[in-house]
Amino acid sequence: MRWWTQLGGNNLFSSTSSVVACVSLMLLISSANASVVAGAVTNTAAASAAASATNSASKPPLASTLSPNLKIITDWCTPLVARLPKVSLNDCRNSKVMPTGAKSVNGFPILARDFAATSKTDTKPDSKRKQAIKILLIGGIHGDEKTASAIVFKWLDSMQKPAAQEFQWKVAPIVNPDGLLAAKSKRVNAHGVDLNRNFPTPNWEQDAPRYWANTTRSDPRRFPGKAPISEPESRWVFDTIEKFKPDVIISVHAPFGVLDFDGPVTPPIRFGRLMFNRVGVYPGSLGNYSGVHKDIPVVTIELPNATVMPPDAEVQRIWQDMLGWIKRNVPTQAKLAQR
Ligand SMILES: [Zn+2]
Repeated sequence: MRWWTQLGGNNLFSSTSSVVACVSLMLLISSANASVVAGAVTNTAAASAAASATNSASKPPLASTLSPNLKIITDWCTPLVARLPKVSLNDCRNSKVMPTGAKSVNGFPILARDFAATSKTDTKPDSKRKQAIKILLIGGIHGDEKTASAIVFKWLDSMQKPAAQEFQWKVAPIVNPDGLLAAKSKRVNAHGVDLNRNFPTPNWEQDAPRYWANTTRSDPRRFPGKAPISEPESRWVFDTIEKFKPDVIISVHAPFGVLDFDGPVTPPIRFGRLMFNRVGVYPGSLGNYSGVHKDIPVVTIELPNATVMPPDAEVQRIWQDMLGWIKRNVPTQAKLAQR
């Protein structure tokens, strides 16, 4: 039973013989997530049980040759990397993204990885950094912006370097897996909702539908949904902001080739070749919700092409410039509270 192949299409769980095994596997994967601390799987019992559940339903050919964790990660990664430019199966496996417990409308797990801060770079005795800057990095909230997810996988590969390790991270490369995995990748989720117009900005109920009808002329690619955070994917981002309490949010998009910024600190000037240039503030957008109304800075990185990756050197320059800007400009909430 290749359960993931059913997740991207309309016939979710269409095979009745698969239903029990699929559901039990999903539940076990969710419970396995509870054992993930700072990216390391500390208890493999649940994952092994998940693999056993798979084996008892049928015997996929790879099950005997891959460890249970690798088998599960391979099952998520295989359909995803088939859609992403310059991301190999090994890149995805090595990222060690794990299920968050949240799933898309079609039931695909929303995958993320946590990294604890490990280096103490503050050496001045008076700095007394109580906690590292917390960064929420998300890609692919629009499913057809493939480079926006691919570049996050590339950056996940840089997380073990000292420059990244002074920060605490939560990284979700693909927030809208159903959009990416649709027969033809699409911006919206499986309900046809533009997740980046579904966040609860003030007066959403009036402003978001009115903006959609009047300004976008009811563009189906920009439908904000029937209610704020009506979608499991935007709900996950919303809940993650509440629980993780990031000091800064980086959301990667394409193809406008600029940086946009919302929030209470100094905007970035440039990351790599990308220059700061306002794209706009929309009812229900993440930048509007978080940056304007919750005072959590949001950097929107708009890569120049949705399907063709920037050169590797540019991928690294954007990364380094971003870390430098965060370090210079983003205060932790503990520091803000002291002001
Ligand atoms: Zn976008």
